[in-house]
Amino acid sequence: MTITSNGYAARHSFSRLKPITIEREEAGPGEVEIAVLYCGVCHSDVHQCENDWGNTVYPCMPGHEVVGRVTRVGAGVTRHAAGDLVGVGCMIDSCRECAPCRAGEEQYCEGPNSWLATYNGPMTPKAKAKTGENMYGRDNTFGGYSDRIVVREEFVLAIPASIPAEKAAPILCAGVTTYSPLKHWGVGPSSKVGVVGLGGLGDMAVKLAHAMGAEVTVFTTTKEKVAEAEKLGAKGVVEGDKAAYEALEKTFDLILSTIPEKHKVDSFVPLLAHGAAYVSVGALTQMPGWNHQELIMGRKTIAGSLIGSIAETQEVLDFCAEHGIAPEVELIPIQEINEAYKRVKGGEVRFRHVIDMASLKDERDDG
Ligand SMILES: [Zn+2]
Ligand SMILES: [Zn+2]
Repeated sequence: MTITSNGYAARHSFSRLKPITIEREEAGPGEVEIAVLYCGVCHSDVHQCENDWGNTVYPCMPGHEVVGRVTRVGAGVTRHAAGDLVGVGCMIDSCRECAPCRAGEEQYCEGPNSWLATYNGPMTPKAKAKTGENMYGRDNTFGGYSDRIVVREEFVLAIPASIPAEKAAPILCAGVTTYSPLKHWGVGPSSKVGVVGLGGLGDMAVKLAHAMGAEVTVFTTTKEKVAEAEKLGAKGVVEGDKAAYEALEKTFDLILSTIPEKHKVDSFVPLLAHGAAYVSVGALTQMPGWNHQELIMGRKTIAGSLIGSIAETQEVLDFCAEHGIAPEVELIPIQEINEAYKRVKGGEVRFRHVIDMASLKDERDDG
């Protein structure tokens, strides 16, 4: 049995997002049906709609920062009940058998199709799978730019009551994407953390690192964002400021880059303390090189980190509730999604756009 779901999707890489009606499988055993209230707009949504990674399955209905209320649960569901406020992040299933899955790091799933993304289907589609199979039985999945979604209960998060529902949405991707590396690289009181870029991810990185007790410096190309960084309790530095860079040499225990595009790394390496790491979470692309001598001389690391596990997603939600942290959001009706994409691409926004799904009513499939 299927249920009808309305939302917005891109039908081609060159087309704007338009209304669409799709069919979803109704909640089966172990699954939860959610009425979507809010969905954050991630830079990945723009990349995916425009096929920047060459792997988009159309129609592409993005949305992996989903907050809503449980409307129905399938047989055997114990973690969530009708009426619960819940969230769905980037993943809705994984193989659950490989070493990373068994270690509770589903985002690094090494199963034949890797993890099942909330939209755009399996990370490793059938055509690229070594087994030539699709263990999830579907080539595409549809995300949270819609009125309802059906997800396995293990991949559904509990939203703490103290976080406003619309502000919880960006924690599900932007929040966990920055929380996971901060935790992995041991950030705590007295750590010195650099954050490169002050968009939706940078905003969360600064707030989380600050709440962990770290001293935070933001690197930005936009002069106006220096003041924004200071408002968040961080120091602000304009990228390439020679005097500032010299003063910061060998000081950072971690530099977290949130830049979602190819960018230069070499100017940051001298700023890393001995043994420290430069971690990029946003650039899924070929990056320019660096002087390796700089790494050798200080046993430094250049690393990457992908979103975070389901357990870490619950952890960061609870951490935000405990420390009174919430992302900066601007609510938009879904009809403004194409304009929002333009702003995200232009890198102008420090906040996260969040779609108010109540705006979906009265929409019809545009064909
Ligand atoms: Zn995202
Ligand atoms: Zn796995």
